[in-house]
Amino acid sequence: MLCPCQSGLTYHACCKPLIKKQKHPSSPLELMRSRYSAFVVGDVDYLIYSDLHSTQADKAEILAFAKGVEWISLEILESYDDIVEFQAYYKLNGTLQVLHERSRFVVHNGRWHYAEGRLLNSKIERNAPCPCKSGKKIKKCCGT
Ligand SMILES: [Zn+2]
Ligand SMILES: [Zn+2]
Repeated sequence: MLCPCQSGLTYHACCKPLIKKQKHPSSPLELMRSRYSAFVVGDVDYLIYSDLHSTQADKAEILAFAKGVEWISLEILESYDDIVEFQAYYKLNGTLQVLHERSRFVVHNGRWHYAEGRLLNSKIERNAPCPCKSGKKIKKCCGT
């Protein structure tokens, strides 16, 4: 299967070794992509493992969010130093939503962790190309 992070690589060659903790992400961007993939495949252990603040106590809540939505796509807007800004598109109860966040990452115990994120306001532009890459406009595709 293709990697959920949309790198164009197979899952096996891309995020899976990170999610299975066989190797560590080499950059905040790699970690960000692998965390998106972990949301898609519902690997909550990895989401907790790679987050500075989450604990096992948060597991049910994270799993409910990961599994309660239909993930559509990840778009990286900017990435430098310890910052990654992205938009993650998903459907909640059939309605297209976008999570636009500017995340900061830190090295802790020798590997990158998600430290914090600032949510930014983004609206779904109904005439924009659909994030699912169908080639159709959002309003004629996932945004109907
Ligand atoms: Zn990937
Ligand atoms: Zn679509």
